[in-house]
Amino acid sequence: MLPEYRNEPFVDFSVKANADAMRTALSKVGDELGRTYPLLIGGEHIELADTFDSLNPAKPSQVVGSFAKATVEHANQAVEVAATTFESWRSVAAEERARYLFRAAAVMRRRKFEFMAWLVYEVSKSWAEADADVAEAIDFMEYYGRQAIKFGGPQPVVAYNGEENELRYVPLGVTVVIPPWNFALAIMVGMTTAAIAAGNTVVLKPASASPAIAAQFVRLLVEEAGLPDGVVNFVPGSGGAMGDALVDHAKTRLIAFTGSKEIGLRIFERSAKLQAGQIWLKRTILEMGGKDGIVVDETADLDAAADAIVASAFGFQGQKCSACSRAIIVESVYSTVLKKVVDRTKKLTMGNPTDPKHHLGAVVDQKAFDKIREYIEIGKSEGRLMLGGETGDGSEGYFIPPTIIADIAPEARLSLEEIFGPVLAFIKANDWKHALEIANNTEYGLTGAVFSRSRERLEEARRDFHVGNLYFNRKCTGALVGVQPFGGFNMSGTDSKAGGPDYLLLFTQAKTITDRF
Ligand code: NAD
Repeated sequence: MLPEYRNEPFVDFSVKANADAMRTALSKVGDELGRTYPLLIGGEHIELADTFDSLNPAKPSQVVGSFAKATVEHANQAVEVAATTFESWRSVAAEERARYLFRAAAVMRRRKFEFMAWLVYEVSKSWAEADADVAEAIDFMEYYGRQAIKFGGPQPVVAYNGEENELRYVPLGVTVVIPPWNFALAIMVGMTTAAIAAGNTVVLKPASASPAIAAQFVRLLVEEAGLPDGVVNFVPGSGGAMGDALVDHAKTRLIAFTGSKEIGLRIFERSAKLQAGQIWLKRTILEMGGKDGIVVDETADLDAAADAIVASAFGFQGQKCSACSRAIIVESVYSTVLKKVVDRTKKLTMGNPTDPKHHLGAVVDQKAFDKIREYIEIGKSEGRLMLGGETGDGSEGYFIPPTIIADIAPEARLSLEEIFGPVLAFIKANDWKHALEIANNTEYGLTGAVFSRSRERLEEARRDFHVGNLYFNRKCTGALVGVQPFGGFNMSGTDSKAGGPDYLLLFTQAKTITDRF
């Protein structure tokens, strides 16, 4: 019998044995940096002369790994191989498919410090953020494995005399998985393993900023969990150069994407176009950006609110789709909350996250660094800089200190556009009603939080705060698999609720069979 699903506990790094294990892992993975990785298509490792590098954001001179750069031809080849493999994989029993996930989860649990270390080097996560990413990846595998078993057999339908009726969920086919770099392990693992647990085959194109962690996972799946050749195909490369080919291919059946609104919309549009030889409507799972706010009213516990704002705004340098990038505060407590948030933020330290004393590492790459700095300039012209704002030129690491800009108007760019960095806008609301109105005034609808002691207002927010993940009196980041199924409204995507009870069904289609006796 399988044990009941439980969330993977977080590591307590104040325990010496855990901190020692992390240091050992950092040193072991440190010795493995700079290696070259091939493509993997149908079990065949394909080395290429043309490669691209994944760099350590906290030390861009350090190459984390060099990756064969897949071309359009490789993309097409990977989809073809996945289509052929689907013909056998789709008949593998759900229990058997699930066991690959349980085995992979067990191996990752045993090697969790190593996976964390890769995240520290490749995307500059602090130890705690890396731990949460790994724990979520393990959770996804444990959760989706159980969901696959649950949905693997006939589902209940109403009985009808003289017939046997059944409804079954059958897999779809080739799934193109396109993850972001921010939950570089968890989201990539979640989308990939949901697809294979449901009986699909996968072409995985990792984010260009985080192919090394994806390569470690693919190796685990194939070498340690024994996943058959061709079920997962690994094609790192430029999204711009070969992403369209994966999306457009006539044999692509489903695209599971998490990333920016811009690319999500591009995939939505392209996948709607029927290609020569294509005999289905492609399905898309598109999880996109956010511009998430925490509302604080005059009845709230202001210290708890300030703690939550700081944690949600600056955890992993604000590079979470769920990050709080707008603090919407009722006028009568605005300056008090602002001061509390500034004071707390001043205590955060920033530096290379191989050292656990730092709360913030670097932002992911030069492009992000430039974009965030541009937004800081925009913010300075739209509001009052309270903290941060100053950066180096990035040559010694893409470090941007936690930045707070006050007195931002509800319609200002800093209030409405996703920045994806450690930049927090403070917005003053006249009263509670106005605050709720501001909270809903972006095109996104991913996460949000309310701090209030008024039950009436919380109930109003429960009804009217239009986001996929809403939190009361706590931070707006840190959704747990199975506990807080995750996904957003409006331009935040298709609200596919990763880690939720319906998620796996999105990777299937339902078939009804009637046998008349
Ligand atoms: P991105 O859109 O730049 O890239 C996402 C992926 O798309 C990458 O793998 C990239 O290589 C690929 N890609 C680029 N061009 C492509 C094309 N033409 N065709 C196909 N694929 C292409 O996003 P990012 O910078 O990696 O991630 C940050 C974004 O992700 C933020 O907007 C964030 O809010 C969002 N995000 C959303 C969620 C969610 O659950 N809603 C979770 C995490 C991140």
